[in-house]
Amino acid sequence: MSAGLIRPHGGTLVDRTGERPADAESLEVVTLTPREAADLDMLASGALSPLTGFMGPADYERVVEEMHLASGLPWALPVCLAVRAAPKGDRVALADETGRLLAVLDVAEVFPYDAEHEAEKCFRTTDGEHPGVARLYAQHDLYLAGPVTVFERQAPGFPELHRDPKDTRALFAERGWKRVVGFQTRNPIHRAHEYLTKCALETVDGLLVHPLVGETKSDDVPAAVRVKAYDVLVEGYYPKDRVVVSAFPAAMRYAGPREAIWHALCRKNYGCSHFIVGRDHAGVGSYYGTYDAQLVFDEFEAHELDIEPMFFEHSFFCKACGQMASAKTCPHSGDDHVFLSGTKVRELLSNGQLPPAEFSRPEVAAILIDAYRAS
Ligand SMILES: [Zn+2]
Repeated sequence: MSAGLIRPHGGTLVDRTGERPADAESLEVVTLTPREAADLDMLASGALSPLTGFMGPADYERVVEEMHLASGLPWALPVCLAVRAAPKGDRVALADETGRLLAVLDVAEVFPYDAEHEAEKCFRTTDGEHPGVARLYAQHDLYLAGPVTVFERQAPGFPELHRDPKDTRALFAERGWKRVVGFQTRNPIHRAHEYLTKCALETVDGLLVHPLVGETKSDDVPAAVRVKAYDVLVEGYYPKDRVVVSAFPAAMRYAGPREAIWHALCRKNYGCSHFIVGRDHAGVGSYYGTYDAQLVFDEFEAHELDIEPMFFEHSFFCKACGQMASAKTCPHSGDDHVFLSGTKVRELLSNGQLPPAEFSRPEVAAILIDAYRAS
């Protein structure tokens, strides 16, 4: 293991990849949803260390109630596999929606769960309009638990950005980084996000820009467009030897505060010692308070998570300051601040107009304009 980097969650980077067993074809098949398939691939790579499979009732209940695994380690969201009925044998094959076999699961337990209670605790709402809750309510009624052995990894959507935790760790070690800050994003990076990643980078050795490329809501900007935008931004505005852009294969859950903890722990497995938490991290609609995803970190003991969260406020370009700033660093009024609502930005871009350079780098805006025109 790479010396000097933060240890994986639980101490050991899990590897659940293995050989395809001879009897794989003859096993009962469980078909995974895209979210479950994304979780499976993260189990394989150790991104969900210390988990070795889909959760049993002891872990599930303690995670839902107390944000800890049965072992006492922090963990914020269930990683469960929903099935219609208990399998007959003690082993099943797991397949993606096209029927391709990916893994085997050794059946440990099958248990019922209360979807509404899980929603209330994990999503802080039982509203079926919430995309994460809607997905939970649409699931089968039982959870199937047990360790997995993955013999068929999913084809990465962005092969050039595909790096498992062992790969990012090797890359960080090769560059001599010890302190690395992870940045979760599912949006194009405008000046505000560029500013906070650079503020963070000023205090550590390296930055992992880790865009989520798993399943998102259909109205989020498509991953392919975002990836192109990250490339031009890093190319033009970051020192290349201080930044790694890599794909985070998780599916969005939109669980706000709990997902912020989950995202941080996953990034710890990728080798990040620090993790940026902005406003409304992993939020959706108005289900969470602006800073709930930062406050939730206080529910853990100091150093219990090990990875250090770095909290940021809304930032903007201030004409009076002549630079990017936030309410923490700028004394001027809103009149001096370059502010555009998300709606306004979308309107400009879809009309082929560049937002002000203080808001968005023109190279990034050009890619978004092309994408809007093509859609
Ligand atoms: Zn100012």
